[in-house]
Amino acid sequence: MALRFYNTLKRRLQKFKPIRECFVGLYTCGPTVYNFPHIGNYRAYVFEDILKRYLEYKSFEVKQVMNITDVDDKTIRDSQKEGVSLKEFTERYTKAFFEDLKILNIRPASVYPKATEHMKEMIEIIEALLKKKRAYKSDDGCVYYEISKFKKYGQLANIDVSRLQAGASGRVQKDEYEKDNPSDFALWKTWTQEDGDIKWDSPWGAGRPGWHIECSAMSRKYLGDQFDMHTGGVDNIFPHHQNEIAQTEGFTGKRFVNFWLHCDHLLVDGQKMSKSLGNFYTLRDVLAKSHHPLAVRYLLLSVQYRQKLNFTFESLGAARAALDRIWDFVRKLETYMEGVDNPKLDKLIATAQKKFEKSMDGDLETSNALAAIFDLITKVNKLMMKKKMSQQNAQAVLSVIRKFDKVLGVLKEEEKIPESVQKLVQERLAARQQQNWELGDKLREQIKQQGYAVEDTPAGPVIKKI
Ligand code: AMP
Ligand code: ZN
Repeated sequence: MALRFYNTLKRRLQKFKPIRECFVGLYTCGPTVYNFPHIGNYRAYVFEDILKRYLEYKSFEVKQVMNITDVDDKTIRDSQKEGVSLKEFTERYTKAFFEDLKILNIRPASVYPKATEHMKEMIEIIEALLKKKRAYKSDDGCVYYEISKFKKYGQLANIDVSRLQAGASGRVQKDEYEKDNPSDFALWKTWTQEDGDIKWDSPWGAGRPGWHIECSAMSRKYLGDQFDMHTGGVDNIFPHHQNEIAQTEGFTGKRFVNFWLHCDHLLVDGQKMSKSLGNFYTLRDVLAKSHHPLAVRYLLLSVQYRQKLNFTFESLGAARAALDRIWDFVRKLETYMEGVDNPKLDKLIATAQKKFEKSMDGDLETSNALAAIFDLITKVNKLMMKKKMSQQNAQAVLSVIRKFDKVLGVLKEEEKIPESVQKLVQERLAARQQQNWELGDKLREQIKQQGYAVEDTPAGPVIKKI
């Protein structure tokens, strides 16, 4: 089956075709580093990680660019409230963000450009937009984008364009505003006292960029005028992504991005998890309650990205239980050493792989992909219990599970039991089969000394880290 994604721009599922064969340029809007991200933000980053990993599974080379918004209304406001420099303030939260990514097993992007390091690129676009009369300098000193000059304004966000062309728009300096109020938006904000020492020189005097121009400039620098995919949460559709399109296309005259993908929100009691509503948990809050980070990852990916997902600690517990099932299964496969080859296994593996790929090809239906894995687990567990399969069969199942995990990223590192321990377990099994219980116990002790416990189950010995 062909790979398909729901393209927000077209409002339908579309077959994916990259601009260059086998290569995908992917821009993922990154964090505004003014606080610790909450797990709602991580729903977006986990979705993007799954997207990238699955594109790689399908043999595409992916160049992922994720910006760091280290200057905007919020970073300036909060660094000043705390009385520290913008740089010190944003570096603290950038560092925390990278730590969280590692904890959640999110693979690094190819590049993480910072807004403050791309003033030249932003100024270049703004100057050109002024020249093309798509932007104007206003009497408040700021430079605004004139949205009525961009015919396709509103297309991504599904806003009635004819109303805009009638000149109904006002002017907005703030980075964030509502869809009901489409307005000319600030490309460059002139310096005011509230900005303190935060300012850059520009042809329009000292000031700072608007949030939206940051992403137009950084995506262009690292991915070119046109690229394949751009993602974010649904709240990014308006105004942020709509404005990025107006800026970049207004500047280049070419189609900016082919596929726009947006994940729906993580909710708490039916409302978007957000800093402004105060109903959020940071990753640190959740881990402090002794939850496993991979359970958080599992929960976030267990529901297809365009569905709403309600966060509760019960659902986090259920995610942990599902993970334990996968982890236990992997442990059993790793140490399974009995039985003879069963030709049925190849078919079971092929069916699971087909279902997994069909689900993921259809707009990343992760919940169906997981169902395919659990189906395989149930069937193989039964065969292991009855010893109706061989060690080679177990290794083949293990290999397909590890292949799936290249996409899902939910297996623990420590699942890889050292070969020395595995050898001792095999020796112990042989000793027990010869009823040499004394040697069996001695070997158990040696296994323990290496930090592992061995448990005898009907499906054979299972090794666990102590
Ligand atoms: P921000 O740092 O606010 O720019 O947000 C970073 C990313 O997280 C953006 O892609 C947002 O769309 C996304 N996001 C924010 N809140 C949520 C949420 N509750 N659920 C899913 N994604 C979210
Ligand atoms: Zn962005």
